[in-house]
Amino acid sequence: MSTGSGSLMWFRKGLRIHDNPALEHASKASNFLYPVFVIDPHYMKPDPTAPSPGSSRAGLNRIRFLLQSLVDLDLSLKKLGSGLLVLKGDPGEVIVRCLKEWDVKKLCFEYDTEPYYQALDGKVKGFASAAGIEVYSPVSHMLFNPAEIIQKNGGRPPLSYQSFLKLAGEPLWMSSSLSMTVSSLPPVGNVANFEVSEVPTVEELGYEEAQQDEFSPFKGGESEALQRLRESIEKKEWVANFEKPKGDPSAFLKPATTVLSPYLKFGCLSSRYFYTCLQDVQKNVKRHTLPPVSLVGQLLWRDFFYTVAFGTPNFDQMRGNKICKQIPWNDDDNLLAAWREARTGYPWIDAIMTQLRKWGWMHHLARHSVACFLTRGDLFVHWEKGRDVFERLLIDSDWAINNGNWLWLSCSSLFYQYNRIYSPISFGKKYDPNGDYIRHFLPVLKDMPKEYIYEPWTAPLSIQNKAKCIIGRDYPKPVVYHDSASKECKKKMAEAYALNQKLTGLVSEEDLINLRRKLEEDQKPEVKNKRQRKLTDGLMVSQSGKTS
Ligand code: FAD
Repeated sequence: MSTGSGSLMWFRKGLRIHDNPALEHASKASNFLYPVFVIDPHYMKPDPTAPSPGSSRAGLNRIRFLLQSLVDLDLSLKKLGSGLLVLKGDPGEVIVRCLKEWDVKKLCFEYDTEPYYQALDGKVKGFASAAGIEVYSPVSHMLFNPAEIIQKNGGRPPLSYQSFLKLAGEPLWMSSSLSMTVSSLPPVGNVANFEVSEVPTVEELGYEEAQQDEFSPFKGGESEALQRLRESIEKKEWVANFEKPKGDPSAFLKPATTVLSPYLKFGCLSSRYFYTCLQDVQKNVKRHTLPPVSLVGQLLWRDFFYTVAFGTPNFDQMRGNKICKQIPWNDDDNLLAAWREARTGYPWIDAIMTQLRKWGWMHHLARHSVACFLTRGDLFVHWEKGRDVFERLLIDSDWAINNGNWLWLSCSSLFYQYNRIYSPISFGKKYDPNGDYIRHFLPVLKDMPKEYIYEPWTAPLSIQNKAKCIIGRDYPKPVVYHDSASKECKKKMAEAYALNQKLTGLVSEEDLINLRRKLEEDQKPEVKNKRQRKLTDGLMVSQSGKTS
């Protein structure tokens, strides 16, 4: 048994004081508290070869957002008589060393469902238990415990939102009040020989400030999160009438949604507190919208994806993922690069990808547009490649939600209507006919008349000259033509779905190679022409009435 009298509070996500049961437990009956955050090279090591500033796993915007959140947490801890201890290294090794060298009787950290943390936490828990140290790891990142929902469903995750809602019901914690404040914390214990630092700056971590004209306007931290939440819930009518599909994806000065996702991702905001605030608003209005479109419904989508992800082995890949259709996506790195670098020639798509690079956040329907375009809509590139780009660049990048939405948008799982494709031209135009969103994020097109802003390659040369934007020189020509590309994609999806159905989901690597070969053959001009001729001949025969 450990004889220690202190507690170690291991912050990873959950970067907040309010509704933080692990912190509360750590501070109870303890003489000392060690509030630790470990800078993990797995996420944070600068990678000069990455396609944009940041590490190989995280863009600079998210790293900056995390550091801001840590500074805010440190300030709050200091106000309570404590302070954040920032350590560096492999988190498993660092925490085990802390447990060995410090006077610790309790190890507390928020439960994390991501595979990376499941593996890491397993190791640390194993060590702590063997050393007689109490481990407390509560579920407080989500509204529900995914394991309980899966258990209620006979060991399988629910695969539709409606079935998830039925199983979930009201969260149990709603019957008691959330602990929103802490009056004081035990002092920080002796850190012995450890190299403890203040929260580093991006430069101290080895990053150079990006040469960029515009950065993410969203600042990290619990204080910002609570302020942003207050501003949203003050607008009672807006909350009551919120209908996600009606939001304008092109609204960027005043986004159509809360932009609380990065705060939820890092746990600067408790999703349970957000949920409680929304319920309070709803109780005090005559009518309000309902899930799936309401704001409460959005939080439930979050829990839905957490549950499916937690209960599905290999959720983040196509191979070995039982709920994922096996589709012969292409491996075209040129198309992928054009999409990632906002060079597709479709201003709506390129503006969204620029917002992703500059801000790390875009509206949900904007994410729909670019994810559909990359995969089943136009380019037929593997969803895992698009997922990687989002995972790195989003400030709200979240393992379960990101993978879940990519599975959905590529019609690989959970959603299967592959004939419904977002037009990269008319979808954005519906919301923003003048193209203000495009003009902001793609200034090269700022003088293009609104008649051509969604399809600049159709503008006469005189207009392109006047707008100081020659297509093919100042802004790219389209990488594919949407009408023909989307038709080809639908055809490929139909064949892939038929194969999955025929082989009842047991599609092998070889089956996919064969299908890919067949689809490529079909696309060759001579085969296409032959097919066309056959069709026309058949038509002529039937028109002359000579067929049976
Ligand atoms: P609001 O509409 O204000 O919703 C409130 C909260 O509900 C959000 O902050 C978020 O936590 C949750 N939420 C909303 N929509 C969804 C959804 N469809 N699925 C799950 N939770 C939701 N969201 C992420 O948080 N991280 C991601 O990595 C991520 N990747 C995505 C990838 C793709 C391809 C797509 C189509 C969507 C992705 N989303 C992701 C979901 C969604 O787009 C964002 O959560 C939302 O746009 C965040 O803005 P908001 O906070 O203003 O949302």
